[in-house]
Amino acid sequence: MRARHPVRPRALLLDALGTLVELRPPAPLLQRELARRFGIELSTSQAQHAIAAEIAYYRAHLDEGRDPESLAVLHHRCAQALCVALPPSAALARVEADMLTQALLASLRFRAFADAPPAILAARGRGERVVVASNWDVSLRDVLARVGLAPLLDGIVTSAHAGTRKPAPEVFEQALGAAGARAGDACHVGDSVLEDVAGARGAGIEPILLSRDRAPGPPGVRTITTLSELAGGP
Ligand SMILES: [Mg+2]
Repeated sequence: MRARHPVRPRALLLDALGTLVELRPPAPLLQRELARRFGIELSTSQAQHAIAAEIAYYRAHLDEGRDPESLAVLHHRCAQALCVALPPSAALARVEADMLTQALLASLRFRAFADAPPAILAARGRGERVVVASNWDVSLRDVLARVGLAPLLDGIVTSAHAGTRKPAPEVFEQALGAAGARAGDACHVGDSVLEDVAGARGAGIEPILLSRDRAPGPPGVRTITTLSELAGGP
């Protein structure tokens, strides 16, 4: 009887924010939502200040959104962070927490970069498993579904699921597990030197820095400016 030597697939691991998807400019959407829902008029700088405070709070706490219940709590706390950064007004004081949370969520809209779907499909065409490894709460799957990317992927691993965030190796190890691949047969693409490049290296995975603004990457790191360059292979 012949021993079986299953062929391990190659894997392409991908960061999400800044790599596959981007946030539409949220300040104009926040202005529109608060005006439409509550009659609260904000200047551009007021909206930018408030949404920046909310995003800072979210980035510090995103791992806490591990399931629908904890995600709802996280959303409420983000709305509180937004509220305290808004100009005080009688109109704002009348807004219930749930309503402000809904207005906030309506202001946060993501879109896929145009080069994302063809890059994923090309990798799959080369026989690679494609898995997202992202610092995000559990809603990432819904976000990627809304922008049409989820059906193209073999797996989605978030820091909220992993219990720690990139650059910790656990996130990458879970992504490798989802791909069924070994570290030596994978590369990871992302736009953060700390989270993606250093994180992938720490897990023994070849890093590729995505520099959409064409800023030079660290010496010795393969750097690309669009995902379409992945078709050229490592
Ligand atoms: Mg990123």
